[in-house]
Amino acid sequence: MIFKVLIIGLISLANAANIRPSIYADEKVQNYLTSFGYLPESDKEIANLRTDQQLREAIRDLQSFAGLPTTGEIDQATSKLMNSRRCGLPDKSDSQHHHSRHKRFAIHGSPWRHRNLTWSLRTERPGGLNTHEVRRELGSALNLWARNSKLTFREINSDRADILIYFQRHYHGDGYPFDGRGQILAHAFFPGPDRGGDAHFDEDEIWLLNNESTEDGTSLLAVAAHEFGHSLGLTHSSVRGALMYPYYQGISQNYELPDDDRNGIQQMYGAPEDKLWANIPKSHSTQPPRAMPTTTIPTPRRTHYPSTRWGHPKTSRPLPADDIPDKCDTSYDAITIIRREVYVFKGSYLWRKGDKGIYHGYPTKITGVFKFPHDIDHVDAVYQTVDERKIVFFIGKKYYVFNAGNLESGYPKPLKTLGLPETLEKIDGAFVWGYNNRTYFFSGTMYWRFDESSHEVEWDYPRDISMFKGVSYNIDTVFQWKNGKTYFFKGKGYWEFDDLRMRVAHKTPKLSAPFWMDCPSPGIETNDIDYSPRKAKITLNSSSQNSMKFSIIIISFLITIFIKKT
Ligand SMILES: [Zn+2]
Ligand SMILES: [Zn+2]
Repeated sequence: MIFKVLIIGLISLANAANIRPSIYADEKVQNYLTSFGYLPESDKEIANLRTDQQLREAIRDLQSFAGLPTTGEIDQATSKLMNSRRCGLPDKSDSQHHHSRHKRFAIHGSPWRHRNLTWSLRTERPGGLNTHEVRRELGSALNLWARNSKLTFREINSDRADILIYFQRHYHGDGYPFDGRGQILAHAFFPGPDRGGDAHFDEDEIWLLNNESTEDGTSLLAVAAHEFGHSLGLTHSSVRGALMYPYYQGISQNYELPDDDRNGIQQMYGAPEDKLWANIPKSHSTQPPRAMPTTTIPTPRRTHYPSTRWGHPKTSRPLPADDIPDKCDTSYDAITIIRREVYVFKGSYLWRKGDKGIYHGYPTKITGVFKFPHDIDHVDAVYQTVDERKIVFFIGKKYYVFNAGNLESGYPKPLKTLGLPETLEKIDGAFVWGYNNRTYFFSGTMYWRFDESSHEVEWDYPRDISMFKGVSYNIDTVFQWKNGKTYFFKGKGYWEFDDLRMRVAHKTPKLSAPFWMDCPSPGIETNDIDYSPRKAKITLNSSSQNSMKFSIIIISFLITIFIKKT
């Protein structure tokens, strides 16, 4: 009925104006033109009063923006365009109707005031996909913008993030319903409070990961990268091939931001030079794809301890004296807090330390306290999970999860099930950082942040240990003490770490034994051990330099004689 009225209205208007019949612009076409900003929204209720000229103008605008011949008619190319997949945001806002039609990026409103933005995926298993892989894809999409601007993006697990990401279908509470599979793929909100910055994806689409391509499928990376452009303040670009072009184009492997989009983002947030995190080696990109998570450690917070009793050292059994480490003259394999006591591991032994010092009866065999399924001669790293319910040990390429002194069933498991590279030989240290209550793994020159909920390391790790300024590569262990501070250990020394300034509290490591193992201090003068972090300084004193010069002269002399003889 409405449709008939509309057509009759248009015909009568056309007749009145004595121009060509205009029934080509049916209701669907007009809705399309209105939705994407080519006809003013305010005319929607009085659509039958639109003049033919107004419609032709709108169609010409649409064609011009998309880069089609501007016929002003719904020809084949235009009809095809209107059926193709695209972003749900309008190409023109009301204010743009009478503005210039430069072909280039456009900016909407004001940019974010801060450059360190946070983001969070708020839909579990979106579209039935693996949440971890979706997060990795979203992270890659944001990274495109980060690489080309001064912006940084940090993933947090909170609905207070700047950019909240949802997968939803049909009406989803924001007045911009999705339309089932096809046509509208996603939309996003420009920078601002509340919904500002958020991105919504139509869950009815067939979302493809890893830059796959099928006829019906849509690349999540391509669409997410486009939507995040809106989240950062860019509107649609009429440059075909630009990321902010409104129609779905897909993106190639190793895609880089096109010039038009780069100019846009840099006009708002500046070019990326001297960015703090820019020098992190991208070693993770060369690693094999990560295994799917196979287990999940539940992490509800508990204020009481599990009722399971802890094993106690069997002091009645005589210890073989030959392999007992000297607690005052050694490095330490692993240190952790377990139920507010410090556990120090070396070789096959451990010490336990309470508020009044190291307990009697220690060291004792690790296997006397923790029921490993086989004999062990060392542990590489150990930490207590954030919820204080589990103890996780790392030995070589495997890890073991204990509930109190008992090994959980199904363990040990390979490190790669945590998303760590298969080539990783061992973990040096593992701890929960007091600064953010997140779990970190260290190995060699790298560290990873571990997601306790997905039970995998996060997608944008590893990073270089140099982020923890002043700490050496190849640490022995790291742990958070009861004071909430972080301590890194290497050799016989340790550093206290200043979490707020992100650097060691003292450049020179201090001797571990006197402070941590109740050992006599060798004296104030020698308590600081000379242990230059990271760079081994090779300096020759003047006498050795002189003797070296002398040697060089003699060698040159001998060579000269040798050459003359031959
Ligand atoms: Zn868009
Ligand atoms: Zn929405």
